[in-house]
Amino acid sequence: MKLCRFQPLEFSAALITRDDTELRPATSYGLIEGERVLEIRSLFGRMEFTGRDWSLQDVRLLAPVEPSKIVCVGRNYAEHAAELGNEIPKEPLIFLKPPSSVIGPDEPIILPSISERVDYEGELAVVIGERLHLPAEDEDLRRYILGYTCLNDVTARDIQKLDVQFTRGKSFDTFCPIGAVIETQLDVVSATVETRVNGACKQIGHIADMLFPIEVIIRWIARVMTLLPGDVIATGTPPGVGPLAAGDVVEVTIGGIGTLRNPVAAESD
Ligand code: ZN
Repeated sequence: MKLCRFQPLEFSAALITRDDTELRPATSYGLIEGERVLEIRSLFGRMEFTGRDWSLQDVRLLAPVEPSKIVCVGRNYAEHAAELGNEIPKEPLIFLKPPSSVIGPDEPIILPSISERVDYEGELAVVIGERLHLPAEDEDLRRYILGYTCLNDVTARDIQKLDVQFTRGKSFDTFCPIGAVIETQLDVVSATVETRVNGACKQIGHIADMLFPIEVIIRWIARVMTLLPGDVIATGTPPGVGPLAAGDVVEVTIGGIGTLRNPVAAESD
């Protein structure tokens, strides 16, 4: 099943649109079936249809969730750790990106003028579907996963190295493109993450090569912080990271999910 968050183009100019009967927010959730988007009341819990639907051409897809936090795993592929001169971690290394860094498909990644080196990092992202805190050691965590989507963990590499702490280098506005859709039934073991810049392939990673598998990561994070519906976990980037320049178009593709495409622009001052 492919789920999305969208804005019907007819409403996109207004934040709130008055319907005959109700005040309707200008964004909706949807189930994608073929070329149509069927509106649903929520991504979480039992699926309820509103009865409205649109052609995919008549909607703008947004970041599929509005997470309370984005939890990322660093150095989760041995070859990527090596390319940045890092040791392979013995336990998952986690850090956060703020919700204010999230953008949707086709929205521009803005290169901050205070960084000389901004990298793409194509990643598989897990979307949490149910509140989770302190799971039992033997608890099956799959039921807490709503689905999977593409994420670009955009990073100001020079600032990340300068600060040691990841916060500033990972947190600029627009540094977390997510989407376009959430796939609820992904064959994770055989999935690949591919990143292209201006059509040229830069990264191909096999999810099976991750040092810490998804369930280990979720358990590790939920030992620390409560995960809420809509929270996003970025599972780390495969080798091949590299710089972005203004005018580039960067695409993260995961087989079975689709492609997340974003243009890159310079900060205007
Ligand atoms: Zn990353």
